[in-house]
Formats: sequence, C-alpha cells, structure tokens
Amino acid sequence: MPTETILARRTRNMGASAIREILKVVSRPGMISLAGGIPAPESFPMDMMQEITERTIAQYGPAAFQYDLTEGFPPLREALTHYLAGKGLSATPNEVLVASGSQGVLDGLGKILISPGDHVALEAPTYLGALQAFAPYEPRYLEIATDDQGMLPDALETALARQPVKFIYMVPNFQNPTGRTLPAERRQAIADIIRRYDTLLVEDDPYGDLRYHGVPVAPIKALAPDHVVYLSTLSKVFAPGLRMGFCLAPEPVGRWLVLAKQGVDLHTSTFNQALATEYLTGGHLQRHLPRIIALYRPRQQALLGAMKRYFPGDFNWTVPEGGMFVWVRGPAGMDMQAVNRQAVARNTAFVPGTFFYARPGSGRETLRLNYTMADEPALDRAAAILGEVFSMARLE
Ligand code: PMP
Repeated sequence: MPTETILARRTRNMGASAIREILKVVSRPGMISLAGGIPAPESFPMDMMQEITERTIAQYGPAAFQYDLTEGFPPLREALTHYLAGKGLSATPNEVLVASGSQGVLDGLGKILISPGDHVALEAPTYLGALQAFAPYEPRYLEIATDDQGMLPDALETALARQPVKFIYMVPNFQNPTGRTLPAERRQAIADIIRRYDTLLVEDDPYGDLRYHGVPVAPIKALAPDHVVYLSTLSKVFAPGLRMGFCLAPEPVGRWLVLAKQGVDLHTSTFNQALATEYLTGGHLQRHLPRIIALYRPRQQALLGAMKRYFPGDFNWTVPEGGMFVWVRGPAGMDMQAVNRQAVARNTAFVPGTFFYARPGSGRETLRLNYTMADEPALDRAAAILGEVFSMARLE
C-alpha cells in the first residue's frame, strides 16, 4: 500500500528515536552503558511485591480487576493527595488525575493544547520524550536560554513579550538530561511571569524524590497553582513497568485531559493503580525510598569522582544534587556522535547531547551520562575509558 497516502500528515513528525538505535547497540554483552535513562532493576522493592500484591487482592477483590473511572482509581487519587501534600502541593482527590506514565500526561497535553504552528517554550536541552510526545501535534519550539541553574527567567519573559506561547514545558528537579535543579528564587520569578502573562506551565517532576544532597525546593505549582500542570510518576520510586503517572491540572485542562484519555485507553490499569495505592498507604514507599537513595548516591559519587580523575581539563560537567544524570560539555568543535562511536568500540556508551535539543545540530559538543544502571567499579572503568577516548578525539 502507498504509505504516503494512508498515513496521516502528523506521522511526518514522528521520526524513530535516535536514542533507541544507540540503546540497541549498547545492550551487547560486555558493554558498560551510561547511555540508558532507566532505573536499576535492583532499585525495585522486590521483597515487598508479594505482600503488596496479596494485600491488594484481599483489600479490593474483583474491584481491582474491573473497568474503572478515567480520572483514576479513587483510593489512589486519595493516597496521592497525601503524597503531594508532602511536596507542598494541596489538592483534593478530585483534582488528581492518573495516567499511564507521566508520558501519558505529556501526550494528552499535546493533544488538547497544541494546534499546528503553536509555540511551545522549553529548556534547551530538554527531555526527548516530551519532544516526541508533542511533535505529532506540530508545535513550533521556542528554546529559552538556560545556564547552570536552569531556565533564565529574563529570557523567558523576553520570549513571552515577543509572542504568546501555548505553554512552557520544564523539568525543574534534576532535569533530564542535565541533572540541573532550578533554585527557589527562579521558581518564584517564573511563577510571577506566568501569572503576569497568564500563561500555562507544564512542570514535569519525575525525579524530585531522588535527592542525594541538599534540601528540596518547592514546586512552581505551589507558587502559581492556577497556571501550572504538575506531573509526576511512580516510575523512579516504585517500578516503571507499572506505568503509574499522575498530574494535578487546573480546570479546564484537567477536564479535557480526561476526555482525551477516554479515547486512548478508557483508564490506566486498575490493578496497577490498586497496587500503587497499597505501596503508598501501607508505608512501603516510606521504607523503600531511602534504600533507592542509598543505592544511587554512591553510584553518582563514584562517577563524579572518576570524571574528575580521568576527564581532560577542558571538559566541564554538572554536579547534580540528585536524579539519574550528569551533563558533560567538551571543547567547542568536538562531535560527540563520532566520539560515542569510538567509545562503543571500546564497550562504553553514552548519549550524545545533540539529541536533547529541539533545534537540529545544537549541542554537538555535549553528552549525557547515566549512573543508575552500572555499579561503582563499572562506573569507574567507564569514566577511565571515556577519558582516554576524549583525549584521543582531541588529538585527531
Ligand atoms: N518526564 C521525564 C523528564 C522523564 O525523564 C521521564 C522518564 N524517563 C518521563 C517523563 C516519563 O516517565 P514515565 O512515563 O515512566 O512516568
């Protein structure tokens, strides 16, 4: 069949992810991959799963296996209000919406908010999955300047003064890919700007709980509740395969998200939502989160220490207080896609940073390193190999 005529126009924007191609190569045996972006399997609370499952079945019976509300399983929505209160966000159960991963919220937002040609403002670089979720709805991206602390409020204001945007997308905590966290003063400045310009902000917070140093910073949602869709997930603090995402959206954005979701999957898996309810209300998250942090904190420390020892002097990188990633900048002119091929030949892999920019060709000298999927000795070895590959690339 002629694909050009059967496929919708929006498929033109749905290119295969270059990162997936890299990840295929790096699953080879013997490879140390700092390329992935996924939680370590040993971070899952496997010793709790049987108890949680049995309690879920005992507590909810057939209701855990029945069709349910598009908005989400009511006991989970109730449990999430308490979880969100711990982050300084007050909400009633009716305001909390459950989705199939926070990715499900991103797609829903694209569907209900973006008409072809609409402007969406975002950090450069940003989360690739958000670019992919929004792309089919044909937005025009406005990249807002950032520095070591994240988005610059002045640059955002200049952009908003020039043209209206449908929304701003931002990852303020331990951003993917840079690991940066937006400080409290900037959050306040951005909250003031979005209120003044009456603009919607999408605050994506999958990593906020993975803090290894320092103190938590309140979400922007707490500062401008009527102008922010806050989304998060249990993917990094429970298990990503359960696809348990959720959001807190102003009316009428929430109402339209529900209508869009009805056409997608009616609702997120009831059983998984019931499991998540038990995980949150039975004290399991409270007991397990410190163990995840105890697993990742030394990994991050091992990688950062090894980078200091092995990376050339003209490289610099972020030193995040949490999350899963470190962002590295090499000397201008170095092409990290070519360097990654050399690293892969030596059984070590990363993701070239250019893939995280909306504008093709940006950030060629940057890269993202993940430290959750390798243990400390492997991270040290990988950093040593990367140090050698970087030095060789500079000599060429
Ligand atoms: N947002 C960001 C910034 C992410 O890094 C991820 C996961 N890598 C997601 C959203 C999606 O997470 P999930 O769909 O598993 O909730």
